[in-house]
Amino acid sequence: TDTLDIKITKAAKSRLEETDFSHLPFGKIFSDHMFVADYEDGEWKNFEILPYGNMSLSPAISVLHYGQAFFEGLKAYRHDNGNVSLFRPYKNAERFNKSAVRLCAPELPEDIFVQSIAALVDIDRDWIPTAEHHSLYIRPFMFSTDPYLGVQPSKTYKYVVLTGPVGAYFAKPLKVKFETYYSRASEGGFGFAKAAGNYAGSLLPAQEAMKEGFDQLIWTDAKDHAHIEELGAANIMFVINGTLITPSTKDSILKGVTRDSVLTLARHWGMPVEERLVSVAEVVDALKNGQLTEAFGVGTAATIAPIASIGHEGQLYSLPDITKAEFSNKTLKALNEIRYGKGPDEFSWNYAV
Ligand code: PMP
Repeated sequence: TDTLDIKITKAAKSRLEETDFSHLPFGKIFSDHMFVADYEDGEWKNFEILPYGNMSLSPAISVLHYGQAFFEGLKAYRHDNGNVSLFRPYKNAERFNKSAVRLCAPELPEDIFVQSIAALVDIDRDWIPTAEHHSLYIRPFMFSTDPYLGVQPSKTYKYVVLTGPVGAYFAKPLKVKFETYYSRASEGGFGFAKAAGNYAGSLLPAQEAMKEGFDQLIWTDAKDHAHIEELGAANIMFVINGTLITPSTKDSILKGVTRDSVLTLARHWGMPVEERLVSVAEVVDALKNGQLTEAFGVGTAATIAPIASIGHEGQLYSLPDITKAEFSNKTLKALNEIRYGKGPDEFSWNYAV
């Protein structure tokens, strides 16, 4: 593959020195540079790395009205020897294009996606935190830019990549509930796409769950709310009777890279794994009779987010203490060893920058 021809304009002065690396709230701090490209006349062009900053856009661009926008989220990790790696970036490239197709936007060749990120991360490598469990969060996104109010697919787009240092995810185990009124996505919809609109629609249900005292909610199917889909903005897994169980992916579920990685590790270790329809009823039964030993969310931001308790129909069911969560603790350790280059990369998941 040819390397991308990128026009590079460096920031006159780095903001590194004025950045407090001991306080890194997620998503608020951006590195010195960003990557930008345009889609015009049926092709991707104007590949550019320039100082992070505001953009000038027409208020008529279609994304602001009809929401043709989607994104990805992945991370770069610094190893003890100074090497830097991206975790499975081609998986994100593939999913970015699935989102593009569903939203009538142009696909971005996978090599352009990965090379744009690698080039940007390379320029801002000093922004990758060195502290344990810290990393550089990478946010590639695409949006439609035709200044036209007709409801139709835009003919022009921008592809942009931002990065920023993020800290350890020290959140305590989650108190969650099954959502039985709102839906995140439906069959025939676009829940499998990382479309901006999916996140807009999830805000009110999440806010209401928080008002009821929960940290997050478990999405169930839009038809009858009898089957489990995801946990907030993460996939969900259960250990029941020693078997790892997770909903199989479909139109309404985002196919997580972390999900795939955890399933791969579990199968490699010989753990029984079931990807299938998972009903609310069977999970409530397993909670009641003590067969459910672990439940957790899996995603790039949190890696593994353990669940402490689950609410359903006015009852709150507690899970065993997470210090006893053998599988999730082992998985978190194994994933971190690979990502931070502390152990063998058996599945070739690291992409060197
Ligand atoms: N589901 C949803 C709705 C998400 O937003 C995310 C985060 N990208 C995930 C699942 C987890 O995906 P990944 O492991 O690729 O981060």
